[in-house]
Amino acid sequence: MTPYPKIELHVHLEGTVRAAALKQIAKRNDYALPDDLESLYAYRDFRHFIETFELTAGALQRYEDFRQIVVDYAAEASAHGAVYLEAIFVPGFWRGLDTDEVFSGYCDGAREARELHGVEVRLTPDIPSVYSAEEAETVARFAVAYRERGVVGLGVGGLEYPTEPYARAFAFAREGGIGSVPHAGELAGADSVRSALDGLGADRIRHGIRAVDDSGLVRELAGRGTVLDVCPLSNLRTGAVATLADHPLPRLVAAGVRCSISTDDPAMFDTDLTRDYEAAESFGLSPRSFYDAGVAGALCDEETRARLQAVGAEYAWR
Ligand SMILES: [Zn+2]
Repeated sequence: MTPYPKIELHVHLEGTVRAAALKQIAKRNDYALPDDLESLYAYRDFRHFIETFELTAGALQRYEDFRQIVVDYAAEASAHGAVYLEAIFVPGFWRGLDTDEVFSGYCDGAREARELHGVEVRLTPDIPSVYSAEEAETVARFAVAYRERGVVGLGVGGLEYPTEPYARAFAFAREGGIGSVPHAGELAGADSVRSALDGLGADRIRHGIRAVDDSGLVRELAGRGTVLDVCPLSNLRTGAVATLADHPLPRLVAAGVRCSISTDDPAMFDTDLTRDYEAAESFGLSPRSFYDAGVAGALCDEETRARLQAVGAEYAWR
């Protein structure tokens, strides 16, 4: 059966690299990886996941690595029906990478992904919450400089973080036409979603599921039409929810909050777009609503949005 069309707004490119490709890249960069990647991917807790993410991201070092992983993931996602991706990456300042090499590798990969696989890819660099305000502003400057090459948003991610140090970076990005897509409300509570909205001018929230604990906030998100980029299986793997049945997704949707569905880190969470959508649909929710939330939340130009809208309108949803 041909998969129905999907829009994925929350996927970390470093977390999409399947074991075989990661081993190949690590080998050509002479980077030591543990032999048994699969057992490495069995996380004890969220901090362990972040450590593993940093270890595997360390294998990615050159223009060619960055370019390749965008094209590879577009091929995989397209097989699951993806027509549009907003892909996240970390600039890797502390690893001595050439930042232009990082940005241009990802941007060229995005262009090639469209040519080879027909998937529109836009990019949203992420500020790890261990970065200083100055480092965050540098990421914002690069994001603006690469806007014409497909960078559309700026994010911030990590465990819990204060928004004040990053407010200037997000304000600069906004002035340069770059959207705000911070992580919040994943493990941190509803307050973190509030700070992302007020402190960083969030256009969307990555995760945002803990908003469910604050009914006033849920009403506000629904009223503003703010899209949450929900990743059901990621939340299960990191322990953000104890069981899938506990997932706030159906409550958020019932309250009128627009939710898009994504994998977050498919290779590291042993998932893919089809499995995450199946998890989301298991609550009796319609895939069309996830697609429409994706169209509404995408940071793309209006011409692309109209095209995505047409894809949704023309598809024979069951
Ligand atoms: Zn994420």
